[in-house]
Amino acid sequence: MQSCPLCLDSSRVLTTAAYGEYASVYCPACQLQFTSPMRHPGWEFYRDYSHYEMRARESDPAAGDWMASRDWRFRTFFSLCSPSSHRRVLDIGCGEGKFLAVARRKGFDVYGIDLDPRAVELARTLRNLRNVRAGDWEELAQVHGWNNFDGITLFDVLEHLATPLRTLQTISGLLRPGGIICITVPRLDRYPRLFDPQADRPPHHLTLWTERALTILLGRAGFGEVRVVKRPVMVEDFLLHTMWRTQRVVRKFRLAENPAGHDAQPSGGQRGSHWKLLLRKAILESCRPADWLLAASRWGEGFTLFACGIKPAHQ
Ligand SMILES: [Zn+2]
Repeated sequence: MQSCPLCLDSSRVLTTAAYGEYASVYCPACQLQFTSPMRHPGWEFYRDYSHYEMRARESDPAAGDWMASRDWRFRTFFSLCSPSSHRRVLDIGCGEGKFLAVARRKGFDVYGIDLDPRAVELARTLRNLRNVRAGDWEELAQVHGWNNFDGITLFDVLEHLATPLRTLQTISGLLRPGGIICITVPRLDRYPRLFDPQADRPPHHLTLWTERALTILLGRAGFGEVRVVKRPVMVEDFLLHTMWRTQRVVRKFRLAENPAGHDAQPSGGQRGSHWKLLLRKAILESCRPADWLLAASRWGEGFTLFACGIKPAHQ
């Protein structure tokens, strides 16, 4: 039996589900759900994962930037940090650079790294982000040196890591004393439940988090002043998860028709993207009153947790 990656205990952990060679295991002490074995599938796995396939084909940076500017995770970061307090920011798992582009516009000095070289290429070509690189977080200290960043972000990255505690301990060394780390993760107790439960299954998500588990993690990694915030449920959550599920079904049919693969997709191009963006804006803006009602009714507790911690000055 795999021991808990946070408390290292293996005597109390419970297997809750099995998916082929992987099992989901729960530690009651930490309230963390993890995977046995804790093995990262490699970035090639994401190439065949429909959610990321869609993302990598993105050809309209204007739509991506607009979505990023209203993203709750990013807005929460900007409510805590400004270029005057945290100028130099590193985004680990930066993807195609949506957060970095918004942060740069606000005056931050931005850096990024991602395992997926195609996403990094998109960040460079679509958004003209120069300080982004493809590679593993373990190389970061060699490239940027220690104690060099004012803020580090991991937006929906932690749940993909095979060694979350060791990763955070290393990342802590990249921050200057007093620097901030901001993390978002999917909640273990997502309520309402996902329309697409496959998104949370291993090896896609190796861990699922609770407020308690995140607080323990950040404390053990040496961070102080830890805070955890729940993201309110929004209408776009339902739209997004419905889209993922539909996409998975469509992709299954497409692969059945054309087993040669996923590369034979039409590129879409820029034509029509302006109208797509307008339509997307119209749909999401029309959801705003429903978002306010959802937040006011306190129904549901959100899909995502945002945690932050400060690196103590004496480290
Ligand atoms: Zn534990």
